[in-house]
Amino acid sequence: MSVILDGRALSYQLKESMRDKVRTLFFQNGRRPTLAVVLVGNNPDSQIYVRSKIKACESIGLEGRLMEYDESLSEPELLNIIQRLNGDPEVDAILVQLPLPTHICEQTVIEAIAQEKDVDGFHPLNVVSLWQGEKCIVPCTPKGIMRLLQEAKLDLAGKRAVVVGRGNIVGKPTAALLLRENATVTITHTFTQNLKNHTLSADVLLVAVGRKHLITADMVKPGAIVIDVGLYRDEQGKVWGGVDFEHVKEVASHITPVPGGVGPMTIAMLMENTIECYLHNINKQH
Ligand code: NAP
Repeated sequence: MSVILDGRALSYQLKESMRDKVRTLFFQNGRRPTLAVVLVGNNPDSQIYVRSKIKACESIGLEGRLMEYDESLSEPELLNIIQRLNGDPEVDAILVQLPLPTHICEQTVIEAIAQEKDVDGFHPLNVVSLWQGEKCIVPCTPKGIMRLLQEAKLDLAGKRAVVVGRGNIVGKPTAALLLRENATVTITHTFTQNLKNHTLSADVLLVAVGRKHLITADMVKPGAIVIDVGLYRDEQGKVWGGVDFEHVKEVASHITPVPGGVGPMTIAMLMENTIECYLHNINKQH
């Protein structure tokens, strides 16, 4: 039976201490850290995500500015909006909710966000710094995963880490962070031959694939640390992880549940990144 890495409980604790910190920052500087959240179009999942981000901001005293635009917004219009936010001294952090409508190039938009306001850490300059091991804004989900591991005092140096999924938002940046912690990292994907051979060798198994129960108990090394980022919503709306939690928890030493594992940590790290952007902005102005 494994230790459950409880992201919900840890994110609650982190948010409590951030609330105190935000109060102090407000008294010191006369304004709250401000996150602008830009939503284009009416994708129902995106609408739920942005509202929960704004709610989380409010719950700890950050200012969350939701900026909603019609699906028909053009790319130049969106780039203009971002330029204005880049130049607004009272906006510390900018998040453009993805996916964008298909007539807008996501990469162009990401690159238009000022590096120091890029709260998601997706700007190419932040990506390069992450891989070079330099100080940068670290993407929220990978940062949340590493914080869960750190809180559980799990030493990763010399461990064999296998990352399933090579997405830019989770798989690749988490691989970079595991490498920083001196793990030996393998990244797998749909072209990987015999996935089970790889997963069975993992001391740390990170699953960043949205396929229900891709990883079953026979694919996990006894005593492994298993982190499940995958989210799959079935026709009834029930959410499943990429790992067969009920069976894998009998084999692993540590495991994250879905929901209640990595998800809440992502939101907590978004709040933390917003505060970091604010501190950078305030220091720049003084
Ligand atoms: P993504 O960019 O679509 O990447 C998915 C990756 O999975 C791809 O690299 C794909 O390989 C790989 N893959 C798919 N089937 C596979 C298989 N059978 N064997 C090995 N690899 C396979 O997705 P993402 O943005 O990284 O997100 C991954 C999952 O995490 C999604 O379910 C997403 O909803 C979830 N997520 C959760 C949170 C959270 O806070 N909990 C945050 C972000 C994302 P190829 O590259 O070869 O196609």
